[in-house]
Amino acid sequence: MATMEKSIIPVKEGDFNLADYEKTAKEFRWEDAEKEFSWYESGKVNIAYEAVDRHAESFRKNKVALYYKDQNRKEAYTYGQMKRMTNKAANVLKAHSTLDKGDRMFIFMPRSPELYFALLGGLKLGTIVGPLFEAFMEGAVFDRLDDSEAKAIITTPDLLERVPVDRLPKLEKVFLVGENIEETDKIVDFKKHLKEASAHFEPVWLGKEDGTVLHYTSGSTGRPKGVLHVQYAMVQQLQTAKWVLDLKETDVYWCTADPGWVTGTAYGVFGPMLAGATSLIVGGRFKTEEWYQAIEDYGVTVWYSAPTAFRMLMGAGNELIKEFDLSSLRHVLSVGEPLNPEVVKWGLEVFDKRIHDTWWMTETGAQMIVNFASMPIKPGSMGKPVPGIEAAIVDDQGKVLPPNSMGNLALKKGWPAMMRKIWNNQEKYDSYFLNNEWYVSGDSAYMDEDGYFWFQGRVDDVIMTSGERVGPFEVESKLIEHPAIVEAGVIGKPDPVRGEIIKAFVALYDGYEPTDELKEDIRQFVKKGLAAHAAPREIEFKDKLPKTRSGKIMRRVLKAWELDLPTGDLSTMED
Ligand code: ATP
Ligand code: MG
Repeated sequence: MATMEKSIIPVKEGDFNLADYEKTAKEFRWEDAEKEFSWYESGKVNIAYEAVDRHAESFRKNKVALYYKDQNRKEAYTYGQMKRMTNKAANVLKAHSTLDKGDRMFIFMPRSPELYFALLGGLKLGTIVGPLFEAFMEGAVFDRLDDSEAKAIITTPDLLERVPVDRLPKLEKVFLVGENIEETDKIVDFKKHLKEASAHFEPVWLGKEDGTVLHYTSGSTGRPKGVLHVQYAMVQQLQTAKWVLDLKETDVYWCTADPGWVTGTAYGVFGPMLAGATSLIVGGRFKTEEWYQAIEDYGVTVWYSAPTAFRMLMGAGNELIKEFDLSSLRHVLSVGEPLNPEVVKWGLEVFDKRIHDTWWMTETGAQMIVNFASMPIKPGSMGKPVPGIEAAIVDDQGKVLPPNSMGNLALKKGWPAMMRKIWNNQEKYDSYFLNNEWYVSGDSAYMDEDGYFWFQGRVDDVIMTSGERVGPFEVESKLIEHPAIVEAGVIGKPDPVRGEIIKAFVALYDGYEPTDELKEDIRQFVKKGLAAHAAPREIEFKDKLPKTRSGKIMRRVLKAWELDLPTGDLSTMED
């Protein structure tokens, strides 16, 4: 293990929000960060108030909160306008339903300004908002609304057929965002009423432990879990928006994640807006040219995306990039999957920017282990714990392991953004915690002698081959260094002699032929570059790897296909 290349990319000059990591990590307490919020004095808590109204009542009133862009629309909303629009949304929701504090309200629609008005309006009303990715099919929508007993959903006429209204007795109202909506006792025309509604609304005041969003996890390892976050998460979301996103007053920040996933709320809405930053939101599907164009057009300075997107941009070649002016970028970050060193190298080459990996989960509610702008990067490492967070590698009994041992990546229980509930499943919730002390992530990792954490794979994906433990991530990262390979997924396949053998599924760049010679070349490449025992004994070419809609490679699906096992819940799989 630990064979990954250990080059170090030094810090670039700059003035960073977190200048002195070591000192801050020693001295910082989360209570120190509470003073940032108006509830610290008033005792009145509402995350939407903190994210919107507080800025609207300050020097940021006319500052752009949100640029929105898609094929058809190009709009900008200041914090003052956001306050009005979210107040209107709260008024519409309140007037046409019995939605009340703690009730579940879902949003199921493509990105648009209305989505953000509804999300923040629902929060002003004190409801728990469940954002759903637009590509979900009926079964996925049903499961989530049924599990959480949702009272209302906001969707579009196009998506309405995937909302099985008749099978959801608790679902009281459907708010439709579209044109010429025919209203019934169940259907409400959201936009029409939004126009007419009052722009005044007193937020419903809540407690720090009241719910905010209910996010179902990505479904990479099995059936998605309903993870409940609470108001107090805002403390960590704001602090990390400053320290990790390194947001400053003049930044233009672009988080590419859809709010259907936790990154799209925690860092697509809450983090940046709590910090009073200007955000860009780009609707529609991923398109290489449009993404580069968006950076150029809006002068994006801070960019938070995912390995799958970076790999697609990388796959599109380096010539295209030269057609765009991307010089505004100053800070680039990644989340969601392991960030392959090859991708980091590419970032340096084409943007002259370090890509900063960040590790966290739906369950953690905010960033946990990250590469700070002020810290040297070791490509392939997730970085170090956020100040105030205690992370460790523990064995199955909860004993902390020494540096360089592979084990369970665990977090000391009780950070601000920690989930407070798995909806309807106390047993599952309890199963995350060991000795009432550690939250066990389900990821396998090790920490090196400098305190950097290295992701190895999901615990269940770690491969035991001829007595060696091999993390699939190392093998995958080596594979994509091969010039022919765009993407790779690696699994352990049961073998009577070796316990397991390594099998790799790879997708090739255009122009490469899937031949046996290429297989052999790939095998040798891993053997020489990583280790003989880590070289895949079997290689299979695929046009595409199975992925979740949040962009993660689904190794369990590869394994199920390979072994002819049931694939399990596929509700979050890409088409
Ligand atoms: P499910 O829990 O439903 O199986 P999921 O774990 O993919 O799905 P998320 O909460 O969206 O759902 O993802 C969290 C997981 O994503 C982490 O446990 C980790 O495996 C992976 N991950 C996130 N960020 C990183 C990163 N920077 N490096 C490596 N892995 C990451
Ligand atoms: Mg998970």
